Amino acid sequence: MSYASEVLEKVIEKNPAQPEFVQAVKEVLESLEPVFEANPQYQSEAILERITEPERQLMFRVPWVDDNGKIQVNRGFRIQFNSAIGPYKGGLRLHPSVNLGIIKFLGFEQIFKNSLTGLPIGGGKGGSDFDPKGKSDREVMAFCQSFMTELFRHIGADTDVPAGDIGTGAREIGYLFGQYKRLKNCYEGVLTGKGLTYGGSLARTEATGYGLLYMTEALLKDHDIDIKGKTVCVSGAGNVAIYATQKAQQLGANVVTLADSTGWIYDAEGIDVDAVKEIKEVKRARLSEYKNYRPNAEYHEGKFMWTIPCDIALPCATQNELDVEAAQNLIKNGVIAVCEGANMPTTLEATKLFQSSNVMFVPGKAANAGGVATSALEMSQNSQRLSWTFEEVDSKLKDIMYNIYNNIADAAKKYGMEGNYVAGANIAGFVKVADTMIAQGVV
Ligand code: NDP
Repeated sequence: MSYASEVLEKVIEKNPAQPEFVQAVKEVLESLEPVFEANPQYQSEAILERITEPERQLMFRVPWVDDNGKIQVNRGFRIQFNSAIGPYKGGLRLHPSVNLGIIKFLGFEQIFKNSLTGLPIGGGKGGSDFDPKGKSDREVMAFCQSFMTELFRHIGADTDVPAGDIGTGAREIGYLFGQYKRLKNCYEGVLTGKGLTYGGSLARTEATGYGLLYMTEALLKDHDIDIKGKTVCVSGAGNVAIYATQKAQQLGANVVTLADSTGWIYDAEGIDVDAVKEIKEVKRARLSEYKNYRPNAEYHEGKFMWTIPCDIALPCATQNELDVEAAQNLIKNGVIAVCEGANMPTTLEATKLFQSSNVMFVPGKAANAGGVATSALEMSQNSQRLSWTFEEVDSKLKDIMYNIYNNIADAAKKYGMEGNYVAGANIAGFVKVADTMIAQGVV
């Protein structure tokens, strides 16, 4: 049995009821097989056994009082997965589906993503099963303050720097930062995604979506394809989806769909981003309202199954949203490229189907790395007590995404898997962390 299969068996045995974590580990380990064959020291140094076990896992009670005076209890998580190349870095997800396995899968992916950015950041992730949807601002604040009252003792600008993710936007980051500052009596860049008046970076809000499009552009350019005039389907209607749509339009593509957790819209004339921003960012409402802004658009209840023909598919909602049936629809309709804006939105089977059908496929750990990369730029600005202009940050972001594309393409080629960007991303992300772990000894 190969080294990777041996470790995978142990991971499955040690982590029952964590299917998403096992899925993420399986995808990485399988694609690294040729690296282990060529580099036996990774096995003798037990790198896989170490890298699949978080350095620290925190789970804690988060009690808070709702607007009816009733006490609510949520569960808080922070996984400090790997700090070989820098302080732990990764978002906080607030969603009812959050559990230990989900946070571990996200933290594991984050190790390689952060390594790919070329910046000094380790891998972490956190969150809670708290659902901000339908809660008043005061209830969200009460939750955030209680969450930080436990978390503050485990994080810091040089230790662990959380950020936003699903359900954690500017409002939540503000409440979390306020409570951290109060408890620690220290004004430091402990969170990223902060407001511009207290250390936030210009272009951080746009970064993941914009970065996704820079990656898509780099991929297409490398294959002599112009993104201009291409039809794009996007899923999700949150931070990543909105700014991916905006940048795609700026690059001359036509984005025709978006989806939220209750339904999806099809606008053949091109999505009206301002309307979506008002619905999702200001009113915190449902996409069904889009028809009030664009009467010719279609709204459909239920899950988006990628039935609309497009050249480029950008899944930007959540894990495992794009399954085999959806992949078959896309392939039948002639899709040429799929770039993941969300984390692991494509199932393993659907990913394999794209690859065997010669659809260019870039995994989230490379394609959505622009968010965390810009978070690291926010950390740099905080350390220097400086603020860079939007253009400065955006141009650094573009360089980072083009570099990531070149690195993952080269890594795949080096191990005889040209065009396999899943393998390329895993290899390029892994090697740097693994070599650093060896250099730092058995810790
Ligand atoms: P948001 O909370 O801003 O948006 C998520 C969107 O996805 C919402 O529109 C939500 O619908 C929709 N959604 C959630 N679950 C489902 C579902 N099961 N089916 C269909 N739609 C669904 O999150 P982000 O945009 O920040 O994050 C999206 C993805 O990108 C996540 O996987 C996240 O981990 C990843 N990511 C985010 C980064 C960032 O910088 N924000 C960085 C890197 C990755 P509704 O509006 O109904 O809630």
